[in-house]
Amino acid sequence: MNAQTDVRERSPLALAILDTLVHRIGKDEQAARPHDWLAATIFTVRNEIIERWMETTKATHAAGAKRVYYLSLEFLIGRLLRDTLANWEKREAIAEALGQLGVSLPELEEIEPDAALGNGGLGRLAACFMESLATLDVPAYGYGIRYVNGMFRQRIDDGWQTELPETWLAHGNPWEFERRESAYFVGFGGEVTGNEQGHVHWKPAEAVEATAVDTPVVGWRGKRVNTLRLWTAISLDPLKLDAFNRGDFQAALADQLRAETLVRVLYPNDSTAAGQELRLRQEYFFSSASIQDIVRRHVQYFGDIRTLPDKAAIQLNDTHPAVSVAELMRLLIDHHDLGFDEAWGITQRTFGYTNHTLLPEALESWPLPLFERLLPRHMQLVYAINAKLLRDLRRQPGVDDRAIAAVSLIDEGGERRVRMANLAFAGSHSVNGVAALHTQLMKSTVFADLHRVFPDRINNKTNGITPRRWLQECNPGLTALIREAIGDAFLDGADALTALAPFAQDAAFTERFAAIKRSNKVALAEHLKEAMGLRIDPDALFDVQIKRIHEYKRQLLNIIETVALYDQIRSHPEREWTPRVKLFAGKAASSYHNARLIIKLANDVARRINSDPSIGGLLKVAFVPNYNVSLAEKMVPAADLSEQISTAGMEASGTGNMKFALNGALTIGTLDGANIEIKDHVGDENIVIFGLTADEVAAKRAGGYDPRAVIEGSAELSQAVNAIASGVFSPDDPARYRGLMAGLYDHDWFMVAADFDSYAAAQRDVDARWSDTAGWRRATVLNVANMGWFSSDRTIAEYAREIWGVM
Ligand SMILES: *Cc1c(COP(=O)(O)O)cnc(C)c1O
Repeated sequence: MNAQTDVRERSPLALAILDTLVHRIGKDEQAARPHDWLAATIFTVRNEIIERWMETTKATHAAGAKRVYYLSLEFLIGRLLRDTLANWEKREAIAEALGQLGVSLPELEEIEPDAALGNGGLGRLAACFMESLATLDVPAYGYGIRYVNGMFRQRIDDGWQTELPETWLAHGNPWEFERRESAYFVGFGGEVTGNEQGHVHWKPAEAVEATAVDTPVVGWRGKRVNTLRLWTAISLDPLKLDAFNRGDFQAALADQLRAETLVRVLYPNDSTAAGQELRLRQEYFFSSASIQDIVRRHVQYFGDIRTLPDKAAIQLNDTHPAVSVAELMRLLIDHHDLGFDEAWGITQRTFGYTNHTLLPEALESWPLPLFERLLPRHMQLVYAINAKLLRDLRRQPGVDDRAIAAVSLIDEGGERRVRMANLAFAGSHSVNGVAALHTQLMKSTVFADLHRVFPDRINNKTNGITPRRWLQECNPGLTALIREAIGDAFLDGADALTALAPFAQDAAFTERFAAIKRSNKVALAEHLKEAMGLRIDPDALFDVQIKRIHEYKRQLLNIIETVALYDQIRSHPEREWTPRVKLFAGKAASSYHNARLIIKLANDVARRINSDPSIGGLLKVAFVPNYNVSLAEKMVPAADLSEQISTAGMEASGTGNMKFALNGALTIGTLDGANIEIKDHVGDENIVIFGLTADEVAAKRAGGYDPRAVIEGSAELSQAVNAIASGVFSPDDPARYRGLMAGLYDHDWFMVAADFDSYAAAQRDVDARWSDTAGWRRATVLNVANMGWFSSDRTIAEYAREIWGVM
């Protein structure tokens, strides 16, 4: 980064970046390091964005428009520079300006830290939604926590996962604006005086100050700039001088430490409720700050708190912010002097709740004593809401004690607990699932009783992904080809991709399409060679499974089938095998033993297969470390086959499935989550479906499933399972996988054995399709052509019209 051009050739933009470098970063061109150039570039871009940001905010005020508030404990935004420049349509201009300064924009983009303030799909959805809200010109704020350490960085040591803190703020964060003036007290504990008739006063025992940190979110073509407002915690009493002077430094700084701890880490867990008190504190901290901010803004601009539902739509992204329901009630009753019934009406009309999981262990509930100790006033309000809910319920005909117990906000079975999903459900006018099957299962399983009582409340909003990040930016080659074929309309409305369908019959076009896929595979191969010393053949079929490691996502099914394929290739070297590269990536929750073991197994299997010369390079396996948004942006465009093989009924929607199909990979998948809708859109002949349906899984679980008999009845499966169990892949520790394999024989809750033969047959079907080059190419084009519906613009338009009333 030093071959500067003649000073006279520098454009105003180049000079602006240079000026920022000198006056804001305090470095000159000679001394500047890549991170200095990155910061100078971001500050320069930001300067332009600010104007539009203020304009859009003022216009929203002037119009008295309703705003959307998206509350989420996770925002998996990834890098922002490329996204922002692309949406601002300034990427070429900035690249040229930097070029004049001898700096490469792609190199800067590559060193930007990946903001991983989320675990997986739920957090990534929130990030796609923020981008689509701005694109659709919807006035919106995202509210969350500014974690100092987001998702952990994963290192693989001898095949095992090691977790390291991700220091994404090490070089500062030039995107953010700290708003010291937007600060709120958030209290915990203490006591409540007064009663429901008189004035109630909550005197918390401790408090922290929540301070807003804002990041601008630029919509496509820069139409609108919205705000992602993340809260950081500041101690009210950062230094107790008396303690300090006594020499008790720990006590002197205790408050500071408590505040910092609140925003220190993201819980690295996307499917089981973290039982820790800290988690509940985090949830209340960001909920309280956000609701206070929303109420403050409403009163400031509209005066009358009673009009809140006309001017604010608050969406709860899963139950993590569900305590917001009680927090709004508290503010309306204790601070704005409304009666209970009026407050409840306002609350219900303001909130919507999105459910993300049916896994019973993931439905959040808090031990009642903990909830009461931390949030005594909210506990009273939960009781009051519950009393009203159950009173109304008892008036309905045919409601028995069982239904009452199921709907109650308090779980009375065993240790009493506060059910956050029931609180969110009761406090919202809309409760939505995230794919058609998921919504149907919500009605028939976990929320069956609530659904009977509130039959109009549950609705579906199938997830989507932003085509800006997940096509235009991550796959510029394909984007250019599509523009050449069908023009630019798809950039402003992904539905227009359907115009691509006729090109599936055009051999010259499909060949160019395939050439772009191949160059993406070459780029990924080079990256993996550089990053992990892996050598892979870009002409092999790239078979990719990247997502959180979880038993329900069934990486194990894929690994066992890989072992079976390895056996088959060795037994039948004379057959025409399709050369395959199997790529895995994903993080395991640190406390999730089996998930960690599955990572080790993938690495053990990879080592053995990759070092076996007898299979002639027909099969390669790799586990790519540290899966995150940036890695997904490299792997998705290079995939030929997308593995979406969850146990049917367990993946609420999936969004990884959408990214791959939009980039011309074929899906091998179960009839689960949004796979079903993807099948409906791309057509049965352009997707490979296998396995049990959700109904069949439920029926098997209800009785009569004998996995041992299934394993013993399948020669391929038993050979693979026995090889793994007996230590063929772990000679250093032959017993390593005995327990994991015994679990398949014993219960096989995730139906790995039940689906194995069907999956293996589907994989051989994939081989056959791959050999039919023309047929494969046609199918990949038809996938891209029919994936426009899965744009998060469509999803957000549905939320806007049907839940929020803002479009
Ligand atoms: C899209 C995405 C996910 C969600 O993937 P699924 O396959 O739907 O589980 C998780 N993590 C990252 C980094 C993503 O980009």
